[in-house]
Amino acid sequence: MSSRLTDTGARDLLRLLETGEVSCVDVAAAHLDRIGAVDGAVEAFLSVDREQVLADAAEVDRKRQTGESLGRLAGLPVAIKDNICAAGAPATCASRMLEQFVSPYDAHVIGRLRAADAVLLGRTNLDEFAMGSSCESSAFQPTRNPWDAERSPGGSSGGSAAAVCAGMAPLALGSDTGGSIRQPASFCGVVGMKPTYGRVSRYGLVAFASSLDQIGPFARGVEDAALLLEIIAGHDPRDTTSVDQPVPSYLDTLDEPLKGLRIGVVPEHFGEGLDSDVETRVQDAIDVYRSLGAEIREVSLPHSKYCVAVYYIVAPSEASSNLARYDGVHYGFRAAEYDGLIDMYAATRGAGFGDEVKRRIMLGTYALSSGYYDAYYVKALKVRRLIRQDFDAAFQEVDVIAGPVTPAPAFRIGELIDDPLAMYLNDIYTISANLAGVPGISLPCGFTSSELPVGLQLMAAPFEEERLLRAARMYEREADVPIRRPPLGMLPGGSV
Ligand code: GLN
Repeated sequence: MSSRLTDTGARDLLRLLETGEVSCVDVAAAHLDRIGAVDGAVEAFLSVDREQVLADAAEVDRKRQTGESLGRLAGLPVAIKDNICAAGAPATCASRMLEQFVSPYDAHVIGRLRAADAVLLGRTNLDEFAMGSSCESSAFQPTRNPWDAERSPGGSSGGSAAAVCAGMAPLALGSDTGGSIRQPASFCGVVGMKPTYGRVSRYGLVAFASSLDQIGPFARGVEDAALLLEIIAGHDPRDTTSVDQPVPSYLDTLDEPLKGLRIGVVPEHFGEGLDSDVETRVQDAIDVYRSLGAEIREVSLPHSKYCVAVYYIVAPSEASSNLARYDGVHYGFRAAEYDGLIDMYAATRGAGFGDEVKRRIMLGTYALSSGYYDAYYVKALKVRRLIRQDFDAAFQEVDVIAGPVTPAPAFRIGELIDDPLAMYLNDIYTISANLAGVPGISLPCGFTSSELPVGLQLMAAPFEEERLLRAARMYEREADVPIRRPPLGMLPGGSV
């Protein structure tokens, strides 16, 4: 029973819970046991409070027994990226700087999950402060890809993607600033979605680059991702960039195929550097849409060649400002030895931040400094506007843009960590959605010849999540990509 529960998706688990076939404690215990069995090898979680998880699950069972009204996720375990605040839980951001930090309050999305009676399962690993594409810049552990333990699960939300992939959680939350949900989803063969900027409140998400960050769902199927998005989306006055627009019921329309769907294919996304297996799988996926009657059109995003350059000015600039608060006074860590106030700041930040975070702070500080501000930051903002205009024009022509998520499948741990530029280029296809603020989803579209998952990326116009999810579901249903589970029995400690 227990392995069956960890193989079951969120909506099916809800049905089992509603009919009373299983209790919330059964579901929670099955996932905790699974974490116990395989996370020694995967290292997706930074912390799991087993007693609290079981107590929260028992409370949902009690409510059900006494006939109290229950929320829509009643009893479902959800794993949380360790940069999203939940009162009483750690939020380390995988940084020594916040190693001892315990959140005093709930993020908006956590409040929504609690109101829906979900069970917060544990805190997942990430690149330090969400800066990275591999989970290797975590100060605590590199998460491993459940499909191949030598490889990265991607990042920065690699812990959430690996947890969902390996059956340790049916659902998880991540954050995406330049691809951090979509890239790990594609590396692990799960569904991951970055909503429109402003669709989900960032209140309680530890800020990396505030004009790009969005929280979004991970699941093993499109329906489950739609369900989680429905719960967390919507206006929150505590985040002034969260938009006051009604949230459609994504699940209600999900299975209605889109008639006359126009799919845009961007030639710039199929250029040099694209792995041939990835290209073939993505082209096959586009053919599935063709066979469903969609019209496939070429559209151009002429400024997309500047995306990586623009992102690596804008994101570090915002990061250098956001991370100024970690000064040894306000939060967490303070160096043990120092000589005066300025030295206290320097010693604290020198010891508390890892190399990648320091690199970003230095890049950003430089780009914002007087004399360089116009040449770098202001210029990057101008090009960012052009990138958004490219998308506006493209979405006049097509409903959805389809292409690869990453240039290649999961790389080996250690392969790119000493080459920041090669690591940054992993985000070449995902960054543009953040710069333009449009929603994007990564969904599994098959495997390479070496049995690594490949992701298909779909993007839509702002606030067109409903259309995006329906288009994703069309493919998922028609392609019927066989559900394959990673060979965890091969991992040390794996029991499947
Ligand atoms: N990999 C990108 C970076 O390093 C994106 C990270 C993210 O989306 N949080 O900044």
